[in-house]
Amino acid sequence: MKLKLISNLACPLCGKADSRSFAVTKDYNWGISGSFNYFRCTDCGLVFQNTKCLGKKISQLYPKFYGTHSADSTEDFESKINTRANSIRAETLENFLASGAIFDVGCGSGFFLKFMRRRGWDVSGLDPAQEHVTFATDKLGLDNVSTGGWPPTYSKMKKVDVVSFLHVIEHLTHPTMAIAAAKNMMVPGGLLLIETPNIKSWPARIFRSRWVALDAPRHLNLFSPDNLQYALKKADFEILYVTTYSPSTMEYSESFRYALADLNLYRRFDSNQHIDNMSSIEGSEKNSQVSNPIQRLKQMGLHCERLFINYINGLADWMGSGCNILILARAV
Ligand SMILES: [Zn+2]
Repeated sequence: MKLKLISNLACPLCGKADSRSFAVTKDYNWGISGSFNYFRCTDCGLVFQNTKCLGKKISQLYPKFYGTHSADSTEDFESKINTRANSIRAETLENFLASGAIFDVGCGSGFFLKFMRRRGWDVSGLDPAQEHVTFATDKLGLDNVSTGGWPPTYSKMKKVDVVSFLHVIEHLTHPTMAIAAAKNMMVPGGLLLIETPNIKSWPARIFRSRWVALDAPRHLNLFSPDNLQYALKKADFEILYVTTYSPSTMEYSESFRYALADLNLYRRFDSNQHIDNMSSIEGSEKNSQVSNPIQRLKQMGLHCERLFINYINGLADWMGSGCNILILARAV
């Protein structure tokens, strides 16, 4: 793959036209064809994709089952609603505001909104995928979820106390416009909650082009805690809280498998197997009734892997290099 080292593309965050190549990579997660170029801004450090070279519309980069709506039983719904990540997000928010109206941009299947409604919040949201909205409405009983992109094309939106972007801002072509639009639909002093992959995390540094959360070509902008704070301050937000945390072992285990696959030491997942493999890794401890000795060994291996990575995750989180950035800011 041809590597272009220096670019005069304008940075989507600070606007400076001076960046260096970060990675030329491929779609490890879903197998969309092509190679994808990422650059790092020399000024603010944002890592961004050169979308001019995509040769495809952004909407063509998403497979049908991208996202979180694959659960098909009540038990699965509960395991996706009552996650550690949702608890951390809610507690972060409720340290500053006990309850109110929250609007989730890119709400996916609505699991976070369902979690917040159970805690007494007035919830609403929007997602570009109709199947997610149908799922949120029909399966989770959420009635204020609609289909659409961000920023919204219509101007009359109900003002809310909180707007959230959970693993969304990295997908948007114009992150600064997205933040400004969020401010427009807040009451004065409203709160903005953002969670996004951390380009300064240990797995991002170790695996780089094979980092599972790079998710090329769908992730367009990858932030660090510093430049995400810069983006919010530039949009007249006061930073209330910022942390990094690692909710799962996947960023190490999947990225490592992608590296092994490139060395022909592991059979890479095809896109149809991707979700099944991810869930079997994450849920391996639940499957205790496996009788096949090979499967039992595999399960023991996965269990040891999880224990080891959880230890690494704890250390990284403590040192501020966790997988996700979680930030809460107040409009001023
Ligand atoms: Zn920049």
